[in-house]
Amino acid sequence: RWSRVKGRLRSSVGEDVYTSWFARMDLEGVQDESVRLSVPTRFLKSWIQAHYAERVLSCWQAEMPEVHRIDLTVRSAVRPTTPPKEAPAPVEARRAPAPELRSTATAPVSANHDALGGSPLDPRLTFASFVVGRSNTLAHAAARQVAEGRRGDPVMFNPLYIHAGVGLGKTHLLQAVTWAGNSGNERKVLYLTAEKFMYGFVAALKTQTALAFKEALRGIDVLVIDDLQFLQGKSTQAEFCHTLNALIDAGRQVVIAADRPPSDLESLDDRVRSRLAGGLVVEMGSLGEELRLGILKSRVAAARTHHATFDVPEEVLNYLSRAITHNGRDLEGAINRLLAHSKLNNQPVTLEMAEREVRDLIRPQEPKRIKIEDIQRVVARQYNVSRSDLLSSRRTANVVRPRQVAMYLAKTLTLRSLPEIGRRFGGRDHTTVLHAVRKIEALVAKDTALSEEVESLKRQLQE
Ligand code: ADP
Ligand code: MG
Repeated sequence: RWSRVKGRLRSSVGEDVYTSWFARMDLEGVQDESVRLSVPTRFLKSWIQAHYAERVLSCWQAEMPEVHRIDLTVRSAVRPTTPPKEAPAPVEARRAPAPELRSTATAPVSANHDALGGSPLDPRLTFASFVVGRSNTLAHAAARQVAEGRRGDPVMFNPLYIHAGVGLGKTHLLQAVTWAGNSGNERKVLYLTAEKFMYGFVAALKTQTALAFKEALRGIDVLVIDDLQFLQGKSTQAEFCHTLNALIDAGRQVVIAADRPPSDLESLDDRVRSRLAGGLVVEMGSLGEELRLGILKSRVAAARTHHATFDVPEEVLNYLSRAITHNGRDLEGAINRLLAHSKLNNQPVTLEMAEREVRDLIRPQEPKRIKIEDIQRVVARQYNVSRSDLLSSRRTANVVRPRQVAMYLAKTLTLRSLPEIGRRFGGRDHTTVLHAVRKIEALVAKDTALSEEVESLKRQLQE
C-alpha cells in the first residue's frame, strides 16, 4: 500500500518534485486513522508540511479512506552517510520547482545535506585532473592540506580564501576539495555557490525554517563557498557572517573562492571582510603556457576515456597552448570542439582543423599596458629634457610643459589615479596632477601643434 501511495504522490506532484522532496520519506507505521511518516531532516519536514501536507493526506485517503492524519517526524539528527535506497540522483538538467534547495545531482554530497542541498558537483573537477603550475602552486597546496584534514584536526588556515579571474581554476579547486573531503565519508563537506547560500537562506526564511537551515549549516565540517562576490543583501550577509564566525570558532574549516581579494568585496560589511582576510588569502595568477599545455593534455586524456580513438597531435596542442591564452574555459572549449568535429566528420585532428575550429576563441592581442615610466621616458626624449627633470621641482618653462604633458598622458593612457600619478611624479599633490590634465586638455583643443605632438607621443607609446 505504501508503494501505491508513493506512486500516487509521484504522479500527482511530478517526478522532479517527488525526487527532490519525497524520495527519502519512509513509512514508520499506520495506526487507526493516523499515518506516521519520517524524513531525514527537519528542513524536509517543514518543507513538506508547509507545501505538501494536504497532497500527502489525499494520496493516503485515496488508498485508505479512514486515514485522517499524517504525522511527519525526523528520523534522527545524525544519519549515516549511505545514500538512501530510494533516492535516484535527480536529473540535473530538469527543473525542479525549488531548484535552489533541491538535492544535487551527485550523490556523495547531496546525501548528507538535504536541508541545504549543495550546489551540483562536476565529477571531472578533482585533484587528479587539476594541473599544478607556477601560478597555482600555493593555492593547490593549501587546498590539498584542507582536503586531507580529518575531523578534529587543528585547522591551519581558516578561512582559506582563493581569488582569481574567470576561468583560472577556482571552481575546479573548490570542487576537488569537496570531492576529496567527502570521499572518506568522515567529514561533512558542503559545496555551495554564494547564490545558493543566498537563495537557501531566503527560502528558509519564507517558510520559517531559517533556524533549521542555520543549524544544518553549522553541523558541517567543511563549508566551501564559491563565487563569494555574488553574495548580496543585508540579511544574507549578516547570516553569512554568523555562519562564518560560528564555524570558524568551532574549529570547522571554511574555504572560499571569489574573483577578487577580500579588500575589494565592496558589498560585504567590514566585519566579514576582516574575518576573511584573517585566514590564508591566496591568489591564482593567469595560466602560463606550460600550465595551459598541461590543462589541454589533461582534457584530452579525459576525453579519451570515452572516445578511445580521439587524439590530438603534439603540434596542435602546442599551437592551442600558445594561441588560447585567456582562460581555462576556452581551453576546455577548444578540446570539446575538436572532439565534436573529429567525431562528427570521422576525421583525425589536424593543425588546419584546429586553426579553423578555434578561431573565435583566440582573442586579439590585448592592447599594450602602458607604464608611467615609459611615458616619462618618451616625453623626456621628445622635449629633450631628462626624466629626473620631469620628476624634479624645477619650474622653468622648458620642463613645466613637458611635465604637464606627461601627467596628462599618464591620466589618459593608464588606469592610475590622480594621487598615484602625483606620487610617481616626484611626490606631487593630486590637485597638481588634476591642474596639469585640465591645462593640457584645454590647450590640445585649440593648439593644433600641441595636439599633434600629443598624438605622436601616444602613437609612440602604443607601438
Ligand atoms: P573559475 O571558477 O576560476 O572561473 P574553473 O575552475 O571553472 O574557473 O576553470 C575553468 C576551466 O579550466 C575548467 O574546465 C577547469 O577544469 C579548467 N582549469 C582551470 N585551471 C585548471 C588547472 N590548473 N588544471 C586543470 N584544469 C584547469
Ligand atoms: Mg567558478
